[in-house]
Parts: sequence; structure tokens; C-alpha cells
Amino acid sequence: KISLFWFRRDLRLEDNTGLYYALQQEENVLPLFIFDQTILEKLEEKNDARVGFIHDQISKLKSQFEEKGSSLLVKVGKPLDIYRTLLEEYDIQAVYTNRDYEPYAKERDQSIEKLLRDQQIDFYSFKDQMIFEPGEILNGSGEFYKVFTPYSKVWLSEFKKQQIEPLSYFHWKNLYQTKGFGLPSLAEVGFEKSSIEIPPMWTDKDIIAHYDQNRNFPAKNGTSRLGIHLRFGTISIRQLALTAAKLNDTYLNELIWREFYMTILAFNPQVVDKAFKPAYDQIPWRNNEKEFEAWCQGKTGYPIVDAGMRELNATGYMHNRVRMIVASFLTKHLLIDWRWGEAYFAKKLLDFELASNNGGWQWAAGTGTDAQPYFRVFNPESQTEKFDKELKYIKKWIPELNSQDYPKPIVDHKFARQRAIDTYKEALNS
Ligand code: FAD
Repeated sequence: KISLFWFRRDLRLEDNTGLYYALQQEENVLPLFIFDQTILEKLEEKNDARVGFIHDQISKLKSQFEEKGSSLLVKVGKPLDIYRTLLEEYDIQAVYTNRDYEPYAKERDQSIEKLLRDQQIDFYSFKDQMIFEPGEILNGSGEFYKVFTPYSKVWLSEFKKQQIEPLSYFHWKNLYQTKGFGLPSLAEVGFEKSSIEIPPMWTDKDIIAHYDQNRNFPAKNGTSRLGIHLRFGTISIRQLALTAAKLNDTYLNELIWREFYMTILAFNPQVVDKAFKPAYDQIPWRNNEKEFEAWCQGKTGYPIVDAGMRELNATGYMHNRVRMIVASFLTKHLLIDWRWGEAYFAKKLLDFELASNNGGWQWAAGTGTDAQPYFRVFNPESQTEKFDKELKYIKKWIPELNSQDYPKPIVDHKFARQRAIDTYKEALNS
């Protein structure tokens, strides 16, 4: 008999909770990864850098297991179909995995669990991608927090109370011993290599230590760029949070935002395509396709907006300050539905995380959990003045800034601001 450990968004051996318990509780643990076609089918670009990144990580994990006399079973397909064939090929005792809280993942796991339980096979899942999972931080009435600040206070006090420690001493001897399996190539998975570079897996500790002073300036190398590694679990959130707690509270606070949005999504799966505040679904978006295209390409004539979009298109990354500016510009200045911008980010961001992306977009559009009044509209010029005064970031992405080739502003700021306020006001009062 064997037991499976199923990797998903936890692509590491170190401090991997489900893997730890599988090895502690079972013998003959065989690690498994499935390239899930339900997810891959939705990706539009064949050279999507995230799939290449996953493939590289899988290949590394496989070598690491082979050094220990085992291997990693890698399949391509729909998880339920894959499990049906695995049940024929192997005598399976139990399946171990780490929990994933996105709507699709929950549904997928329920169907797999049912398939297994019908055959008296155990399915065990563990908390791994969050410090506190949805339901662990609740208010006095036992409900999830709708507002960040009180949530973060409780989160922090719990974090201090619980002595969180990364797991060590894995029982590697309980790995299933086998000769190495084959690995489907990236082409066999249906993708090609991308030229986009992936940020390194660990960041300079100085960046975290000085995060509060530097994080708002897009021309500085002031943020950790660990988003993609948190998304795919190539680093452990416990190790990162412990480092942050020692070095910089502001950085730790950002990790709390991550869990706040994950919790909001888990309790409110409807936010995937609806405003968190339902009244805001009344806003009559203009949705001008030409203007949307200009925004996507970084040709709005607003330098800070265009620089951000060009950074995104070229690197799969955009600085947080600039994400806020471009998102506000799309939803307020152009009155284009936040869902359009959200979908574009989802396609392009290496660190795309459904919960944070949705939370960030709803925040910018004013439709989300935030209590800020809708008439607060970012002014691209004063944002530039504050955060890119010397135009270093802007000039890096817009070399033609002062030439004829650079477009005129797509809309006048004052006019657009008033139009946004009037439109929101009317929609919310009707
Ligand atoms: P750092 O500044 O070094 O922060 C460290 C980590 O903390 C990040 O990697 C991330 O996991 C977390 N974090 C930081 N800020 C936030 C935040 N505001 N909300 C939630 N988590 C945060 N973040 C994503 O991870 N994926 C997304 O798809 C995403 N989409 C966004 C869309 C919009 C419109 C906005 C305004 C923000 C979005 N963010 C998203 C949040 C934030 O911009 C990124 O997490 C951050 O810029 C990633 O860069 P970094 O890894 O250098 O982050």
C-alpha cells in the first residue's frame, strides 16, 4: 500500500505541513503533482511565464526526491480523471495535501475527497499557505472581519501568542522507494518557455528591514518581489512572517493584508464577479474599448499610468503604488469596469493571486471592504510628485516622454474626476 502527498501551491520540501504529516503518519509516501488542465485551459498565452516557473520547480522537487531514493509522480489532466486512473494503478491508503481556499480549489478538493471516501481511502488536508486560515480570526460575534484594521490587530496578538515555528526533522525514510519517473516536458503540458525573468526566491534582508521607508517609491528596489513565491509556495509563509516580525512591522502588515483578502474571498466567493458592496454594481461603467486598449498598452498620455502598464507588460510585475494608481485611473478616470482591469492583471502578473488582485481592484474602484469615500480619486500628477519626483521610474519605461511620439492625455483630469464623482453619486443614490 502507498499514500500520496499531493503538491499544489506549496512547491517546496522545507516546512511543508502536509508533506511533514504524511511522512510522519504513513509509510511509502509517494509525492504527486498534477498539471491541472481545468486551470491551464484558461490561460491565453502559450508562453505564460507562470507555467514555466511551475515546471522548473516541479523538476527541482523531482530531483530532490530522487536524491532520497524516491521520485515525484507528475501527471497532466483533470484531477478527478487522474485520481480515477491512480486508483486503478496503485493500492492507495490515504491522500495528504495542503488546503487551498479559492472557490475552484474547494470544489475540486470536495469532489476528490468524495471519490476517495467512497472507496474507504482517507483524505487529509492541512493549513499551510496562511498563518491564520479563514475562520481562525473572527470578531466578538463569531463573524469574519469586514474591515482590515481590527482584523490585523487580532491577527497580530494571536501571532505573538502562538509560538509559530517552521517544521523540521521530516521522516524521509517513509518516502516510497522507486526508480525515477518521467517528467512531461513543458511542450507536453501545452506551453513554451517565456523570456520573462522570475525574481529570486529569497530577498535581501535589508529590503525587508528598510521596507517602511522605501516601499512607496517605484524607482527604488524597495519591495521584496516575493509575490510569486508566496503564490506557489516556493517559500514558507511561516518563515517569511517570522523574519518580518523580527525586521519590520510594516512588511508584516502587508502579509496580514494577504490573509485578510484570502479570508474575504473564502467567506464571500461572490466577490469574484460582484462588488463586495452590492450597491456598487449599479455603476453604469462606460467601458470604452479603445480607451481600455490605450490603458493596456500604456498609451493614456498620463506618464505614471503608462509607465506602470509598460512595466507590467514587459516584466509581469508592477510596483504596488503604481498598481493603485493605474487601477484608480481605469475605474475612476475612464469609468471602465474594475473586472476588466482585474482580468488584465490576472493574465499578466507573475504574482497573480485571486484574492489579493480582487481585493486590490475592489479597493481602487471603491466597491470593496474599504470604508474610504468614493469621491477620493487619485490624482496622477500629485502621485508622481510624491512618489517619483525625479521621474526616474517614468523615464525608465517611457523613453519618448518629451517627444512628439508620446500621446496627449486621453482625458482631462479635472473633467474625469468630476464625471467619476457624479456617476458614482447618481448610481448610489438611485
Ligand atoms: P512586497 O511589498 O514586498 O510585499 C510582500 C508580500 O506581501 C507580497 O508579495 C504579497 O504577498 C503581500 N502583499 C503586499 N501588499 C499586499 C496587498 N496590498 N494586498 C495583499 N497582499 C499584499 N498582490 C498579489 O500578491 N497578487 C495580485 O494579484 C495582486 N494584485 C493587485 C492588484 C491591485 C489593483 C493592487 C492595488 C494590488 C495588488 N496586489 C496583489 C498587492 C500588491 O500590489 C502586491 O502584493 C505587491 O506589489 C507585490 O510585490 P512584492 O512581492 O514586491 O511585495
